[in-house]
Amino acid sequence: MAEIGKDLEVAKEALEKGGLVAIPTETVYGLAANAFDEESVLKIFEVKDRPSFDPLIVHVSSLAFAAKIVEEIPESAEKLAKAFWPGPLTLVLKKNESIPLSVTSGMDTVGVRVPNHPISLALIKSLDFPLAAPSANPFGYTSPTQAFHVNNQLGSKVNYILDGGNCKVGIESTIVSCVDNKVVVLRLGGLTVEEIENALGRPVDDIQTSSDKPTAPGMLSAHYNPGKKIIIGNIDHNLKKFPRARVGVLSFKRTFKNLNITKQFALSPKGDMQEAAKNLFGSLRKLDTRAVEFILTEEVPNDGLGRAINDRLLRASQKK
Ligand code: AMP
Ligand code: MG
Repeated sequence: MAEIGKDLEVAKEALEKGGLVAIPTETVYGLAANAFDEESVLKIFEVKDRPSFDPLIVHVSSLAFAAKIVEEIPESAEKLAKAFWPGPLTLVLKKNESIPLSVTSGMDTVGVRVPNHPISLALIKSLDFPLAAPSANPFGYTSPTQAFHVNNQLGSKVNYILDGGNCKVGIESTIVSCVDNKVVVLRLGGLTVEEIENALGRPVDDIQTSSDKPTAPGMLSAHYNPGKKIIIGNIDHNLKKFPRARVGVLSFKRTFKNLNITKQFALSPKGDMQEAAKNLFGSLRKLDTRAVEFILTEEVPNDGLGRAINDRLLRASQKK
């Protein structure tokens, strides 16, 4: 198991020596390494068992630092960065030669963002390199939203886990590509499409998050899975189909009579979508540890953050 703590000096030293440090962000915990150093970056892929075709997001401390690692910041990207950074928005931009191709899976674009977490922002500001950091989980698994989630799965493989408590947003960043004069949403996430369009003052050009026509190597249909089979649909109906002893339930708001309370979680009993997003991955992980064979779940109302939650539930329910 790794050491878990809040010591920025320990984290800084490990990163400067080319090591891996798990960092808290407002979205999920990241597995961070020096983005300028190819050897350090390759360790991320190894530890996560992540295919080399799945690019990493680079975390910087400011828009000014982002400008140092890309060819240019188009007007649309500048507008979005000024509106939402630090925050759950990743911008895909044309990279310059400072970023090794191993970070971007050989592409000429890089995903970059300023995370909104005081501890990680202080860490990144103290370093003279940005941090490449995908979610700190084995590839294809549910993202971690607490330090112990990271420790349970990757504890023996990282140098240090910076503890920043429970992630406030709980779902990954929204990814928006701003290359070739187009604004295209590549992944739904913690920032809604409505918020993005409001800041732009116009609709986005496209939303290409469907796994049927992947536009980003990382847009895999099967992802975020906690381990057990997940069945999405009408929970009342599915409870009749399966013997109760064998199912766990993840509902949006409701609790179910005659079902052991340790085997059911409501994402937000009051129907608050932000609370639902925050609880999503942690609840899936808890249900995965219960003595159940399947997890029955349902879609949440499909607007705002609900679209990102439904996206994760759908991918988590796909067979790997
Ligand atoms: P994770 O941090 O684990 O959610 O993974 C980062 C995700 O960001 C990848 O799976 C990709 O989908 C996306 N990503 C990173 N860089 C790029 C890029 N240059 N172009 C498109 N998508 C990207
Ligand atoms: Mg991930």
